[in-house]
Amino acid sequence: MSLKVPAQLIEAVHRAAEKAFPEECCGFLIGAVPNGFEKPGRTVMVEEIQALPNGWEAGSRTHRYQIDPKIFAKTEAELSGTGKGIVGLYHSHPSVPAWPSPFDLMMAWPCYSYWIVSVIEGKIHDSRSWMRGEDGRNFVEENIVEEN
Ligand SMILES: [Zn+2]
Repeated sequence: MSLKVPAQLIEAVHRAAEKAFPEECCGFLIGAVPNGFEKPGRTVMVEEIQALPNGWEAGSRTHRYQIDPKIFAKTEAELSGTGKGIVGLYHSHPSVPAWPSPFDLMMAWPCYSYWIVSVIEGKIHDSRSWMRGEDGRNFVEENIVEEN
């Protein structure tokens, strides 16, 4: 199970996470949706990222992110027929590890990769990706593979 990401997109997500500190940044991971997308063990290749506003009010953006469901629907509609779709989401964890929170699990959809970037004191600390387990009760880590 892995998330393949071009080096320049890893860099872009890391810079966005540092820039948003001490708030969480978030965005879509876009790429070709593979057969067996929902199956543990699948690999997805990120071809684009789309930065999004964090939908929480100011005081909550330090520990939560929210993506407007209308943006989800709009993006899926725009990608329809292009062979690409939303394959995951990225967000940052200011001042805490890149370990999914109970809130992340509650909000997680099956299939998607959840890439979390930990930022400590304004600098990238850790960068890890997760997929919701089949029973929805935990996350399983996947490798982030840098592509050049
Ligand atoms: Zn989180």
